[in-house]
Amino acid sequence: MNLPVLAIIVPCLNEEECISSTTGRLLEILCDLENKEEISLNSFILYIDDGSNDYTWQLIEKYNNETNGKVKGVSFSRNFGNQKAILAGLFEALNYNADCFISIDADLQQDETKIPEFIKKYKDGAQIVAGIRNDRNTDGLFKKYTALTFYRLMNLLGVKIKVNHSDYRLVSRQVVESLKKFPETNLFLRGIFNELGFTNDFVYFDVKAREKGKTKFTPVSLLSLAISGITSFSIVPLRIVTFIGFMMSFLSFLLGISAFIDKFIRHNTVPGWTTIVAAIGFISGIQVLCMGIIAEYLGQLFQEVKSRPRYIIEKKIG
Ligand code: UDP
Ligand code: MG
Repeated sequence: MNLPVLAIIVPCLNEEECISSTTGRLLEILCDLENKEEISLNSFILYIDDGSNDYTWQLIEKYNNETNGKVKGVSFSRNFGNQKAILAGLFEALNYNADCFISIDADLQQDETKIPEFIKKYKDGAQIVAGIRNDRNTDGLFKKYTALTFYRLMNLLGVKIKVNHSDYRLVSRQVVESLKKFPETNLFLRGIFNELGFTNDFVYFDVKAREKGKTKFTPVSLLSLAISGITSFSIVPLRIVTFIGFMMSFLSFLLGISAFIDKFIRHNTVPGWTTIVAAIGFISGIQVLCMGIIAEYLGQLFQEVKSRPRYIIEKKIG
C-alpha cells in the first residue's frame, strides 16, 4: 500500500516568535511518522501567512530553503482571517499531492503530540477527524463562557456541531475536493465540515497556554466569527422574527378589542400614559432588534452576491 502524503496546514498572522519552535516540533513529528512508515516521505508543512507585517514570511522562506522544500509557504496579499487561511492551505496542499491534511495553530496551543492519533483514525477509515478540546481552562473566563454559549446557541438553532470543536482537524483529499464545491465567501469551517457528512471521528486533546506572542483574535473578531457562523448556517433567527411579528400583531389585536370595549361598553377611557410609553418603548425595541437580525442576513447576502475571491495569494514557495 502507498503511504499517505500528510500536509500540516498552519495559518499564521504575525507569528515570528513561534515559527522557529513550531517548525522544529512539527518536523520532528513528521520525521518520526516517516521513520515508522506511517506516512510518505513527501509529507510537508504548509504555512499560510495571513498578511503578517513582521518577519513571519522571511522565516518561512528561510525554513523552506533549509529543508529543501519540506516547509512550504503561501503568502496572502493582506489579512483575510484565519478561516480563509486554513481554506487556502487545504486547496494549495492539493497541488502538492497531499492525501490527508491536518490544520493546527502556529502557536501549537493544540497538543501536537496527538497528530499520530489523527493519522491512526484516518487509516481506520475516517475521512474527517475533528479535534475536540478537553476543557477551556487556558481561556479567560469571558472567552470560555462566550464560546460555550455560542456552541449551545448553534445547537439550539439546529446546527449540530460538537461543543468545544476546534480547527485542529484532519481531513482526507476527497473531503477537500468536495469542499471546493462550496463557493460561499463566508465560510465557517466548523459548520461546513459538519455539513459535508463523510465517515468521521474525534480526537480529544488538551490546550496548552500560548508560549510566545499573544492571541491574534480580538473580542470583535470572535463576535464576528460567531455571527457569521450563525447567519451562514441557520435561518431560525429569521423565523423567530416572523414569530415575534405574529405575536405582536395578535397582542395588538387583543389590545384593540379591549380599547373598543373600554370606550363603548365600559365608558372608561382614562388616559393610560405610562402604559402607552412602556408599550411604545417595548415595541420599538423589538422592532429594532428584528431589523438588526434581518440586516445580518442581508449583509451575508450582499457579500455572497458580489462573490469576490475569498483570498488573494501574493507569493508561494514550494
Ligand atoms: N490567525 C490567522 N489570521 C488571523 C488571526 C489568527 O491566520 O486573522 C492564526 C494565528 O496566527 C494562529 C491561529 O490563527 O496560528 C489561531 O490564532 P490565535 O492563537 O491567536 O487564537 P487563540 O488560540 O487565541 O484562539
Ligand atoms: Mg492560540
